[in-house]
Amino acid sequence: MKKINKLLITIDGVRKDRVGIYNKRSTYITPNLTKIAKQSVVFNDMFACGTSTAMCFASLFNGQYQKDFQRKNFGDNNNPYKSNIFTDLENGGYKTFICLNKRFEYPLKLINTIGRNTELWWTGEKNNKNKSIGSLRPLEQVKYISKNLKKIKDPYFLWVHLWGFSAPKKKFTLSTSTDYDARVKEMDEAIGYIFKQFKKNTEMFFFSDHGYALFEKDKWAYGKDADNLVGSVTNVPTIIYNGKNIGINNNLVSQTNIRKLIKNSSGALKLKSEFAYCESRYIEEYDIALAIRYKNFKYIIEYNKRKSQLYDVKSDPDENINLISSKINKLRRDKFGNHPEIKPYIIRYDWTQIEITHKKLDKIAKNFYDFSLIPNKVKMKNFIKSSKVYFIYKKIFN
Ligand SMILES: [Zn+2]
Repeated sequence: MKKINKLLITIDGVRKDRVGIYNKRSTYITPNLTKIAKQSVVFNDMFACGTSTAMCFASLFNGQYQKDFQRKNFGDNNNPYKSNIFTDLENGGYKTFICLNKRFEYPLKLINTIGRNTELWWTGEKNNKNKSIGSLRPLEQVKYISKNLKKIKDPYFLWVHLWGFSAPKKKFTLSTSTDYDARVKEMDEAIGYIFKQFKKNTEMFFFSDHGYALFEKDKWAYGKDADNLVGSVTNVPTIIYNGKNIGINNNLVSQTNIRKLIKNSSGALKLKSEFAYCESRYIEEYDIALAIRYKNFKYIIEYNKRKSQLYDVKSDPDENINLISSKINKLRRDKFGNHPEIKPYIIRYDWTQIEITHKKLDKIAKNFYDFSLIPNKVKMKNFIKSSKVYFIYKKIFN
């Protein structure tokens, strides 16, 4: 059987609600992705495996969570790449390529996951102070790929990461309300181009590494706070086009399955994870928070603050009702239909089940990491960073 070429086209930090297939009101931002989704497998409950770019890619290329690499801290190059999606495909006779902007050199070093013979195609300039001059625009980047892949013999696999390195073109800022949306729209234009060029004979994988918080629960951006695990960060758009399967997968799926999916996408519609984890650490930080998805529930633990939250994401997708909050009176109606007059309250009939789930997830969370592996140096740095001393230092010197 002829091996089909594969393109992995990732879009940095694109929120699920900016993609029309997940939110009709955003169709004008992502008209191409929305159209492609209708011919593809759409994952409706894909859970990011990390909150920062390098962590997500290291995990999804390897099919493993960060804690399984035994990386002591973020960016620790304890080599995970002996076996990963690039080597899988190389073993299957594929040539492998990565096309990135020069500014992505450092994240790639942290990802530390490529094949034995992966060819790197760098675009743009790292040191040009003018980002817009120093970077190829998303459309230029995919045109570059398109032109160069024509010279490559099949079968091949290429990963390109689109990022808003340059200021969005005026036509995008004029048709959207924020710079963020304009950048998403510009990436979508590039996606439309590449899809048209390759749809005849190529499998394509479109997804973002993590999402982006726009002040949900006062959180902003993604992993830089290391405890930013709100839904807009952990829930990611994922669309797989293989020319055969079309439909929506509503199951919970961990992003660590991407490795398996790129290798063989035929089971995409049925794929399912019992548990999914989102790890959250940033450069020179250790694990201060973790999110666990299990059934309809999402549990978030902040180890350092000794705080946790539990949400029923099916009935409360915006994660407003923390089911384990002491501020909520957890009530049921009695057999006469009455309930105690204590406010505020939530009436549910599964509080016992919720308590069992809470205990179960809390136990998993507390045993997830081996904190003894964290070097003292990193512990010290984290302690200082979370203390008042650091705050004062920053105020004085910044
Ligand atoms: Zn990212």
